[in-house]
Amino acid sequence: MLNKLTGGLKQIIYPDGDKCCFCNNFLGLYENIFCNKCLYGISSWNNNYITCKICGKFIKDQIICADCSKSKPPFMLAKAVGAYEGLIKAILQRFKYQGVQSLAGPMGRLMALEALKHKEFIKSSLITFVPLSTGRLKERGYNQSQLLAHELSKYLQIPVKDLLEKTIDTEPMAKLTKEERFKNLDHAFKVKEQVSFQGAILVDDVYTTGSTVSLCCRELLKGGIKEVCVLTFATGCDIM
Ligand SMILES: [Zn+2]
Ligand SMILES: [Zn+2]
Repeated sequence: MLNKLTGGLKQIIYPDGDKCCFCNNFLGLYENIFCNKCLYGISSWNNNYITCKICGKFIKDQIICADCSKSKPPFMLAKAVGAYEGLIKAILQRFKYQGVQSLAGPMGRLMALEALKHKEFIKSSLITFVPLSTGRLKERGYNQSQLLAHELSKYLQIPVKDLLEKTIDTEPMAKLTKEERFKNLDHAFKVKEQVSFQGAILVDDVYTTGSTVSLCCRELLKGGIKEVCVLTFATGCDIM
């Protein structure tokens, strides 16, 4: 009720004032970027499930998911704001496919809040991101992961370094199996320069099978980073 009132009041005072980035309702007094109802939608979904201790994927009852028990990923851990479902999926699709670049700010803020829960992220000395091929970058006009990395950098006060490049265009991979994805992506990424850092955060928009971030991580380790942890906005869920 109070929220509705303050939202209504704001609408009168600032006709183009703050609206929820997702549902477009006017924000209440203590709301920022997303309205509480939308934020609650994300956290209540998350709270129903557990996540794999290594890759952060939503799983039903194990501690480690089937993929990570088969082979341990090259990164220390991966975390995400939420599962690629509902609100998270809708936000990501607007950001990535409908060109709403302004969502990078609130998305980066939510990613920073997730990162702050884990010491591995906080003690990292640089942030880098999954690159797009030149062709894809031209087509989309921006690299969504790079925008998120820069937003995250503002909140965590850790610098961004553009360390990776994607040297070949790969086929859209949504329908491929994990093995096919790996084969498709192998040699697609290259580290651009040798550095010497203890820890880096690798940013991507979504974690699906982990093949993209694993290959990027392998290159970063080759390039002189000792440990990599992965942060994405969305992650997969093996809960069916
Ligand atoms: Zn909302
Ligand atoms: Zn896992």
